[in-house]
Amino acid sequence: MTIDTLSLTAEAAQTLLGAGEITAGELARAYADAIAERDPEIHAYLRQGDSPDGESGEGVPIAVKDCISTKGLETTAASKILAGYVPLYDATVVERCRDAGMPVLGKTNLDEFAMGSSTENSAYGPSRNPWDLDRVPGGSSGGSAAAVAGGLAPWALGSDTGGSIKQPAALCGIVGLRPTYGTVSRYGVIAFASSLDQVGPMAKTVRDCALLYEVLAGRDRNDSTTVELPEPVTIPTADSLNGVRLGVPKELNDAEGIEPGVKASVEAAITLADSLGADVEETSLPRSVEYGLACYYLIAPAEASANLSRYDGVRYGHRASEPSDLSEMYERSRWEGFGAEPRRRIMLGTYALSAGYYDAFYGQAQRVRTLIRNEHAEAFERYDALLSPTSPTVAFPLGARTADPIAMYVADLLTIPSCMAGLPGLSIPCGLSEGLPVGLQIVGPQFSENRLLQIGHALETALAFDVVPERLR
Ligand code: GLN
Repeated sequence: MTIDTLSLTAEAAQTLLGAGEITAGELARAYADAIAERDPEIHAYLRQGDSPDGESGEGVPIAVKDCISTKGLETTAASKILAGYVPLYDATVVERCRDAGMPVLGKTNLDEFAMGSSTENSAYGPSRNPWDLDRVPGGSSGGSAAAVAGGLAPWALGSDTGGSIKQPAALCGIVGLRPTYGTVSRYGVIAFASSLDQVGPMAKTVRDCALLYEVLAGRDRNDSTTVELPEPVTIPTADSLNGVRLGVPKELNDAEGIEPGVKASVEAAITLADSLGADVEETSLPRSVEYGLACYYLIAPAEASANLSRYDGVRYGHRASEPSDLSEMYERSRWEGFGAEPRRRIMLGTYALSAGYYDAFYGQAQRVRTLIRNEHAEAFERYDALLSPTSPTVAFPLGARTADPIAMYVADLLTIPSCMAGLPGLSIPCGLSEGLPVGLQIVGPQFSENRLLQIGHALETALAFDVVPERLR
């Protein structure tokens, strides 16, 4: 039987495997062939994983973002400073996938240390959007998103600090779930900003994301920030939204810079939610959008500057050759190893944490973060979930924002507030604008994944978006 990796969902692949209609080897071979055919132009992968002989697992294979450790398989976080680094152990999320029988197809591209929104900050060259090869796939999990959209993986692991799962999912026309902070282990995940980092699933359908989330979630004794889920993961079946209370925060839906085509597509999805039985109401999150981005760009770099101090040329990765003394060794190893964006953030973050400025910058940002959290908590007294665009724009052309860091940061304007509040969020494709996918963001209170997945599934079914990129149909 011929396997069309562009349209095959992970769930359908599981069914075919279970019925004995295909073997794990045939499935892995189909992805290897698709990768050989299309990845030279998409560049979703930095390197291949298990050989497609079917012996590394009997399940549906998965792509893994390259900031997630894979035992015996180079893991660089798309940085030169980690070139050649081969982890001695699997991250817990990878171990869980392996325990579920999933072979690892390969390691996907990202912005260096997950800092960026387009994968253009990768030290190994950008990935391209399968819908239009002259455009970015989003980021930082752009390689994972491009792999799924391009039929190069049935599903993938992404990581999200301020939008890195939801935003690339939106730009590539797939589904991405950023889970509640603390539900998925970060053990073995290269740290960026530890109070924000989360791992989550990316796939073609909401049900696929639910199936993968079920594998990933739950307490891990190696990560003390994880908790036991309050209820087991349910695989969504809902086709109505009867009685679901949905809020539409005006600041997230009318923010400056939202493209008219994105707005129109999201408005149509909101109208559809209403016709499926939901109670839809306009609401407000006044401070979250106004202060979210500024607050994030103090907290995330501050934490990054501390996390990245371990790359010193002594214990990990790149070491400068023939330094004249120890401090020159540190200095040159870091200068040679880090790209422009991590350097910028190390400097900003170190400044924000320095004596005399700590309270004015980092401390103040933490207080604003509490306001953002409280504002969301209040909204969730009235609503089950909040709807908005995921990204203000569709996928932008390669190079369009690389010269202007602020223009790049604005890509996450709508995803950052809920990330700051530690909340789960789902992005589903809701239509096209100028031939490119638009993402609908559905945010809920802590541990509301099951409900978000139900809402997402009901909408996805009614929207009937075709996830195969038009130019590949
Ligand atoms: N684009 C945001 C940043 O550059 C978010 C990245 C992420 O979530 N890892 O920090």
